[in-house]
Amino acid sequence: MSEKRDYYEVLGVQRNASKDQIKDAYRKLALQYHPDRNKETGAEEKFKEISEAYAVLSDDQKRQQYDTLGHSGFDQRYTSEDIFRGADFSSIFRDMGFGDLFRTIFGGGFSSDYEESNVGQDIAYELEITLEEAARGVEKEVDIQRTEKCDTCYGSGAAPGTTANVCSKCNGAGKVQNMRKAGFATFVQVTACPNCRGKGKVINSPCNSCQGSGLMRKRRTITVKIPAGIEDGSQLRLRGEGEMAPNDGLSGDLYVIVHIKQHPEFIREGNDLWYVAILTYPQAALGAEITIPTLEGETLLKVPAGTQVGKVLVLKGKGMPRIRGYGRGDLLVRIGIYVPEKLTAKQRSLLEELAKEFGSDVKSKSRKFRF
Ligand SMILES: [Zn+2]
Ligand SMILES: [Zn+2]
Repeated sequence: MSEKRDYYEVLGVQRNASKDQIKDAYRKLALQYHPDRNKETGAEEKFKEISEAYAVLSDDQKRQQYDTLGHSGFDQRYTSEDIFRGADFSSIFRDMGFGDLFRTIFGGGFSSDYEESNVGQDIAYELEITLEEAARGVEKEVDIQRTEKCDTCYGSGAAPGTTANVCSKCNGAGKVQNMRKAGFATFVQVTACPNCRGKGKVINSPCNSCQGSGLMRKRRTITVKIPAGIEDGSQLRLRGEGEMAPNDGLSGDLYVIVHIKQHPEFIREGNDLWYVAILTYPQAALGAEITIPTLEGETLLKVPAGTQVGKVLVLKGKGMPRIRGYGRGDLLVRIGIYVPEKLTAKQRSLLEELAKEFGSDVKSKSRKFRF
């Protein structure tokens, strides 16, 4: 047996991670490696690995045993069926729109009966928006290609004017059931009817447009509402906007993954925005009113006399809207000082005069500076 990786490492969480953090980590990875979405080699193994880690770490008792015993001790006590017993995957997977996990994990690998579950594939779409759009919320149109019902036969697969006949072997169900025992549990294995190959009906004269599949590829423009305050990397799920499954199946979902472009002026930190304002030395020393950008255009900011380098001035409520809850974060303005690389003769003589005026006093004062 190959060496198992540490469960915490597998999920990429700290050893003291909370249950929510563990669930979040698992959801993210499952979204990436779920066999419904990821057909690459190795994804299936990876999915099993993360699911096992989640089954253990989401269960207080098993987690505690694992923490105490380590992998080898834990494996001696728990079989792989013990590990998965009682783990709650179904609510996670329902939220994510994936099929039944028991079939996935226990169904003898990802066997063909899983493939034939009648839900279409999900579609992932990467969308880039600006920070301003993220701040006010925006509607975007995304162009996708997906499988839909055939226009000519309306999904029946039969040529116009003809109909499909109900399959005599499965009475139209398209499926036949087999019972199977696996360790502690009995699983009902559903396989496609061999007579109609899962369609539930037999088509004698197939539709020309779709060759009897009842499906065709279409381009679609989908409008996506992006909520104000959305964070970079968020996924929006549009139920039923994915690929349609054959035989009057359900459509998968469309996942829109939102990326926020880097802004030329602001850096986002949660709901707050950072901006660096560069002042001249006289402005900082004497105080000034400066123009700074905000998400809604320029505004004036009063800089008090004697403002130090690195000081942060706060414009309350000028940051990003909170996606959950009310209000907005702040715009944080950090003060920097402009030091000219070249001086005019006049600037030089004024500065020299100023330097003389300060004398050595500035040295002792400068020790108080903190950044
Ligand atoms: Zn057709
Ligand atoms: Zn049949």
